[in-house]
Amino acid sequence: MSGARRVQVLVVGAGQAGLAAGYYLRRAGLDFTILDANSAPGGAWQHYWDTLRLFSPAGYSSLPGRPMLQQPGEEYPDAAHVVAYLAEYEKRYDLPIHRPIRVEAIARDVDGITVTTDGGTWRSRAVVLATGNWEHPFVPALSGRGDFTGRQLHTHEYRTAADFAGQRVIVVGGANSGAQIAADLHTVATVRWVTQRPARYLPDDIDGRALFDLATRRVQAGGPRISDLGDIVAVPPVRAARAAGLTSRPMFDHLTPAGAAWADGTTWDCDTVIWCTGFRPDLPAIDLARTDGRIPTEGTRSAEDPRIHFLGYGDWTGPASATLIGVGRTARAAVAEITALLN
Ligand code: FAD
Repeated sequence: MSGARRVQVLVVGAGQAGLAAGYYLRRAGLDFTILDANSAPGGAWQHYWDTLRLFSPAGYSSLPGRPMLQQPGEEYPDAAHVVAYLAEYEKRYDLPIHRPIRVEAIARDVDGITVTTDGGTWRSRAVVLATGNWEHPFVPALSGRGDFTGRQLHTHEYRTAADFAGQRVIVVGGANSGAQIAADLHTVATVRWVTQRPARYLPDDIDGRALFDLATRRVQAGGPRISDLGDIVAVPPVRAARAAGLTSRPMFDHLTPAGAAWADGTTWDCDTVIWCTGFRPDLPAIDLARTDGRIPTEGTRSAEDPRIHFLGYGDWTGPASATLIGVGRTARAAVAEITALLN
């Protein structure tokens, strides 16, 4: 195709997953380029809220090759610390990142892959998708959502508790973001934290490092599933809010113009509903078949086309692969397969 830039491997996304891929591609001596839609380094971490804390100490939040240093005075680093780490990481390994460039479509043919972006066209022999899920927030369909006259937002838009000072706020969601945002708001707003089942905290001594060990053991020997143990890592702010009386309540049945209504007839009027209800993979258009809405994979590789890999999307593409410490393992395996394929 004339006018297209050519590389052996194109990586889409320069968050932690794309950088880990870049690290191993550099070591493998392959010719590659990383395209990233953000205009600054850090992937999704640059958009997280002020008080978010990692659920692992810095030493357990590192990408391959370069340990994350401890944040002075903080056992669990904040998001700004991760952004600085990722920015330094891509510089240190001189990763060839072009930003902001958004990939719009990926088309395969027998001779290669054409990647169409808002900044031109690339041709490559393999593609690693590492686009994360931050830009694809999920809110469940629920009766009355369109009737509520207050403000609704998703984790995706939440920045700081100060924006909600003095308000009555419902926080929806029983995973880490729901627990952390409810804890964050708890001292400045009147909060009702609602979850589909009672909040399930992991034991207090289980943080990201223990989760990673568990995920590793499960891969090796079929140990317990993390989800069997709980949904929420009890990081210090969450523990403090729990000790101060923050508890989860059952999920409401529907929204009304003024607030929420439960199946037993009780209602609660509020100013804001915050949906901490997760994300879905944020993939550009790609001509691969889906099963139950998901592209089938073997490890990180598309089951349909071994030239396409998916990195960092969680269990779908490898246990613990949606974490800083876990993504390196799957990136190494993906690059080993790509190297073998191209050679
Ligand atoms: P992202 O960081 O989202 O990066 C993807 C990049 O791809 C972005 O820069 C985006 O602009 C780009 N992109 C997307 N689409 C395109 C496109 N079409 N074309 C070009 N570029 C594109 N993990 C931990 O290890 N510890 C934690 O404590 C932790 N806490 C978390 C707390 C929250 C609230 C959330 C949401 C996640 C947390 N995670 C944590 C999980 C995980 O580490 C992050 O979600 C991480 O940001 C995922 O990295 P990624 O590289 O896969 O995706």
